[in-house]
Amino acid sequence: MVLFVVKVFTTERTKGFHKGRNEVKTQKIFQIKFNSHFKIKNEKFMNERMINQFMEMVQIESESGNEANFMNYLKAEFEKLGGEVTIDSYGNLIAKFAEKGCTGKEPILMSCHADTVQPGKGIEPVLKDGVIRSKGDTILGADDKAGIAELLEALRVAEVHPPVEVGISRQEEVGLLGIKEMDFSMFKAKKGYLLDNDELETIIIGGPSYYAIDATIKGRGAHAGMEPEKGINAIQAAAFAIAKLKLGRLDEETTANVGVINGGIIRNGVPDNVTFLAECRSLNHEKAEKLSKEMEKIIREEVTKNGSKVEIFIDNKCKAVEISPDAEVVETAKKALKSVGVDATTTFITGFTDASIYNNNGIEMAGVGIGARLEHSTDEHIYVDDMEKAKNMIVEIFKLSAV
Ligand SMILES: [Zn+2]
Repeated sequence: MVLFVVKVFTTERTKGFHKGRNEVKTQKIFQIKFNSHFKIKNEKFMNERMINQFMEMVQIESESGNEANFMNYLKAEFEKLGGEVTIDSYGNLIAKFAEKGCTGKEPILMSCHADTVQPGKGIEPVLKDGVIRSKGDTILGADDKAGIAELLEALRVAEVHPPVEVGISRQEEVGLLGIKEMDFSMFKAKKGYLLDNDELETIIIGGPSYYAIDATIKGRGAHAGMEPEKGINAIQAAAFAIAKLKLGRLDEETTANVGVINGGIIRNGVPDNVTFLAECRSLNHEKAEKLSKEMEKIIREEVTKNGSKVEIFIDNKCKAVEISPDAEVVETAKKALKSVGVDATTTFITGFTDASIYNNNGIEMAGVGIGARLEHSTDEHIYVDDMEKAKNMIVEIFKLSAV
């Protein structure tokens, strides 16, 4: 159930929101690649440790719900770098690093997620011409293991950083389940960076309020030919309700959808049970809340028209986030990106990420890019050059946060 909702959601984020830009950027990078042989070769050499580790990590399976092995691997890796590492009772990882080359600075939080979408078993990464892809039958897992590889390398090479806290969640891709179980009292940081956005050119400063609405309709079963008058058709009741709901884009910051419907068993039976999964979201929290109540009211009213009953479960999965474009985390991310030659702009997304939950829990967190492209597809890939830039961006964020 939740899996479906989030798959739809994140695909939309990747394909709907960024697709155009990804295509443009791909063309641009190809030009650079053909014009500058030496640069690529040289960077390949410099990046070898990070790339090898990335390739190693994507081969450790960690589809959502199955992250334990990978978390143990990460625990050892963060410990090797001097981190104090805890895996919480839900299986999220928290690592803490003492300041380096500075004193008395505020801690910052760096966050990634450990899980991948499917198909993520048996990933075989292939590096060719400066681009890493899977063999083609699986995702690559750059979302979000590129972010983790870049962070590990940045921690390895940074000469200066404030206290760094690291949060690696599990089950992000199936509805932010891991981060919601995170014990936020473990963190002292009040600001941070989520390494989970695809392109480097965009800094995410906000996301929507999101309501998941599950409706279970109970009718009454009966033989459709022998005694239909004894039945109450739950499919028809669902149809009345869904037909009445306003769906799609309702205004520039508000959407609603019914994404799944299940019900009925046989053609000649009056169906007694139907469930459908709806959602609404808006960058304006009040709007999303009001809309969820309206949708609930409509469903209740319409379902009862033929005598069916309905149970409705509404879950406000996250609240709208809006970080000021002038906030320190945004300014720092922009400066850090500028130092690697990227002019970044700020944006809101209609998808939601772990950053929404960190922000909802009082940690101001901007989303920055890791360089992954076409995530959630078997065409997912990443340029070594982009990984190098992302790693250097993190090193620069460390430096800027230590002065
Ligand atoms: Zn991700």
